[in-house]
Amino acid sequence: MQAVRLMERGRGGVRVVDIPEPERPQGFVLLRMIAASVNRVDLYMRDSGAGISHSLPQTMGVDGIGEVLECDADSHFRKGERAIIYPYVFCGSCRHCLAGEQPLCLRASIFGEHRDGTFAQYLAVPQTSLLPLAATADIYAAAALGVAYLTAWRMVFGKAPVHPGATVLVQGAAGGVSYAAIQLALMAGARVIATTGGEAKSAHFRSLGIEVVDYRSENVVKAVAALTGGEGADVVIDNSGEASWSQSLRSLRRGGHLVTCGATTGGHPSAEIQRLFVRQLSVHGSTLGSVEELRRLLAAFQTGALTPRIDSVFPLDRIEDALARLEHPDRIGKVVVDIAGD
Ligand SMILES: [Zn+2]
Repeated sequence: MQAVRLMERGRGGVRVVDIPEPERPQGFVLLRMIAASVNRVDLYMRDSGAGISHSLPQTMGVDGIGEVLECDADSHFRKGERAIIYPYVFCGSCRHCLAGEQPLCLRASIFGEHRDGTFAQYLAVPQTSLLPLAATADIYAAAALGVAYLTAWRMVFGKAPVHPGATVLVQGAAGGVSYAAIQLALMAGARVIATTGGEAKSAHFRSLGIEVVDYRSENVVKAVAALTGGEGADVVIDNSGEASWSQSLRSLRRGGHLVTCGATTGGHPSAEIQRLFVRQLSVHGSTLGSVEELRRLLAAFQTGALTPRIDSVFPLDRIEDALARLEHPDRIGKVVVDIAGD
């Protein structure tokens, strides 16, 4: 079968190769993969992979959807059904799994990070890491849910739940998770302010009916203060890290919440501890989401409450172009890989 393998670090290390089809252990479902999406973590794996236990070569790809080819006789899946992959393989018996917090599982592994991933024509997945997907679901939109939208779901509805009327500032709005967070915050009835760079992207977000601050030409902190009567935002979603961290803390109202799931521009900004305690700010770290959160997200998607924004679609053998598009400054939303070409 064809698979995208990371052979060695760096851009030249990503190759489309022929490898044997996977075996299906008991308790697993063999999927014919339909589509997946590229995520920032794919670039991190390509370029560094530091801090993530794995060995190369390894198949890339963290999320995706597929069609059931083979499963146990007593499985609740059936041949021919579609399923969406939950990115974690989890033990199901540690204290965190028993509490429904699979992202904290003591023995968790993630596709495309700790084990072979989803950019392959076939993949064996534990049936506990799969949810059924409606046959009528748009395949590209569904393929974008597993990482970006699940991550955004937990950021918006998790530890500092966004409520109707809350003001949410989303930094770097065009990124996959940020775009998803905007859609989910709007779904929750929040007022959303987006920061982005350049006229074309600003115009796109204004067309969604939300307020936009262009960080290339405006001072974000002053602009957010002006838009909120000097008070600041209730919640800031910041996946960019070092470059925007200070702005994000300064854009929060007293008692506000900063939620982060990424550090694209670096992971060591000033902590600004005085600001944290004097203004009683909270900082929440977030990664992906639980199986139950994926189920809720999928329900919102399948009832039409949410339509993921797809920037572009590439066939599996153009993975390098897909990764380049992910890094392109004009990108807005998700880049999808069409694996099956159905
Ligand atoms: Zn566990």
